[in-house]
Amino acid sequence: MPAVTADTLTLPRLRALPEQGTAWRAVHNVVTAKKFFEGEGFQVRRPFPGMDLSLADPFLLLDHLGAVEYGPGEAKGAPWHPHRGFETVTYIMDGAFEHTDSTGGGGLITDGATQWMTAGSGVMHSELPPDSFVASGGLFHGTQLWVNLPRSAKWTPPRYQDIGSSDVKLVSSADGGALLRIIAGELDGHRGPGVTHTPISYAHATVNAGARVDVSWPAEFNALVYVLSGRGTVGTDARPLEEGQLAVLGSGDALTLRAADTQPQAAGSAWNVLLLGGLPLGEPVARYGPFVMNTKAEIVEAMEDFQSGNLIRQAPSELPHGTSADIDPHS
Ligand code: MN
Repeated sequence: MPAVTADTLTLPRLRALPEQGTAWRAVHNVVTAKKFFEGEGFQVRRPFPGMDLSLADPFLLLDHLGAVEYGPGEAKGAPWHPHRGFETVTYIMDGAFEHTDSTGGGGLITDGATQWMTAGSGVMHSELPPDSFVASGGLFHGTQLWVNLPRSAKWTPPRYQDIGSSDVKLVSSADGGALLRIIAGELDGHRGPGVTHTPISYAHATVNAGARVDVSWPAEFNALVYVLSGRGTVGTDARPLEEGQLAVLGSGDALTLRAADTQPQAAGSAWNVLLLGGLPLGEPVARYGPFVMNTKAEIVEAMEDFQSGNLIRQAPSELPHGTSADIDPHS
């Protein structure tokens, strides 16, 4: 898992937190991701939706893509499809996705880069492996997170943020044994580059065997830990968490996690986790496939706009529009 690597000894470190007097969050429950097929037929592991979504609010969906070793000709993606009312955040650790959208945004997402697409009032986009990667095959590993927009920002113009692998904020754990890549929000005052509509934190941590991550976490945020590879424990009750599992944490003002002393061969010597949290929106959610609004009437409006070619309101519209048959209820 290349993503971004660094010598943790030279990085700024998270402050050590006092064992006593810190309100460490305990694990509320553990969810094992379910497997789905997306787009042209690539498998994803999806820890949510499928659980009580208020626990993840403002996050709507997390897809774990791979890790998969594609043979020549096997790599797949998601060709042109619409979105409205939220943001898709695509993070690619191995392999590559080529993104094109109706705002003219786009580019190659690869080697630890993140693409933050605000669908807002409406976009069409395609997310496909580049031809050269399809031809060669190879290791592919990434994630896609859906972040809801508050009612006040559902109709914001679409926006594209290209967050290069060198843009993420790198910090180390207090013990120097973990590398944390902050994509958005902040950890202990260190701020990542992603611009968000509501306060969230999103980071990828590589925790070496036996190392520990303690980090302060806003009490008003929810907190989720998802395992990309390897194994470890979360919370003061040391709840085991392994690849494909999501921990939902309870209340408190800090997280503690520790990588197991031995890691599966395939995971290398480290436990790789995503740390996610945000300020819940607490608004009604109406969703159908690629549209996430506040009311059913707004979903019907989005489908009618898509069918009539009016989904995209601020952009050149030589792009294809489709019928409801083109709406994949999952992607
Ligand atoms: Mn999409």
